[in-house]
Amino acid sequence: MTPDLMEEGARRAERVAALARGGATESGGRQAGFSRPVVRGEVDTTHGRILYLEDVNVSFDGFKAINGLSLDIAPGELRCIIGPNGAGKTTMMDIITGKTRPDSGQVFFGSTIDLLRYREADIAAMGIGRKFQKPTVFEHLSVFENLELALATDKGVRHSMVFSLTGEEKDRLGEVLQTIHLADSAARLAGNLSHGQKQWLEIGMLLMQDPKLLLLDEPVAGMTDEETERTAQLFLSLKGKHSLMVVEHDMSFIRTISEKVTVLCDGSVLAEGTLDQVQADERVIEVYLGR
Ligand code: ADP
Ligand code: MG
Repeated sequence: MTPDLMEEGARRAERVAALARGGATESGGRQAGFSRPVVRGEVDTTHGRILYLEDVNVSFDGFKAINGLSLDIAPGELRCIIGPNGAGKTTMMDIITGKTRPDSGQVFFGSTIDLLRYREADIAAMGIGRKFQKPTVFEHLSVFENLELALATDKGVRHSMVFSLTGEEKDRLGEVLQTIHLADSAARLAGNLSHGQKQWLEIGMLLMQDPKLLLLDEPVAGMTDEETERTAQLFLSLKGKHSLMVVEHDMSFIRTISEKVTVLCDGSVLAEGTLDQVQADERVIEVYLGR
């Protein structure tokens, strides 16, 4: 394992342990005091939104990384986010997942859950799953064990990482293995998978927790063309059941999966529409697509 993966592994293990204790992972910092009981029930989407950001702002040392950002996502939607490097795409995901606290603005999960009142671990437990750029699976464990472990984070009451699955959990694990095209590789060590397969495994680990909203940051970076195409089909199969927010630079991938595309630039929405609409937008061509 690389030091990075070991670090993520350690963090994930801490998350598992913290959830098993019934608490969150962090106790200090500016997130302290935001603790609320975690609700893992239905999200109120009667207003047609699973996620809602309104006039969100965040500065780092005086630099406005997010600047009056407003955006909403419909239940079951697959939203693509594009934009130049430094546009604030990753920071937006940090805000939604509770990793970064905005200076001002509103961030709601459905109509009633104010995400700014919750900590990172609580937000994950509510059903917002996040996939970072680099795959962070446990390389020394099998595909099956990785998925099993992802379930442990969901249960919250496990005292050890060794436990037996209920019938329902076994079914879910089997379904996820099919979904991520790894049914024939369940016993393989994650460390022996291709880059693309590791990415799918990590998506599978998120799916084990049955997230309502999935945030995916540059999921096909480094994948072969064939893996990219399979990932596109995977995402298309997930939409409807889950809501997805996908940040990617790969335009042919975006073309395959996209309905509505949001272009971020300088921390706010520059354009929104179909891929054809935003690609024809002069301002988008200027800042992102190039002439
Ligand atoms: P993107 O993902 O669209 O490439 P980011 O959200 O990573 O953009 O970054 C937006 C801007 O905010 C960049 O200029 C970046 O350097 C800055 N930034 C992001 N996170 C931090 C941080 N924790 N501290 C200081 N600056 C940051
Ligand atoms: Mg980024």
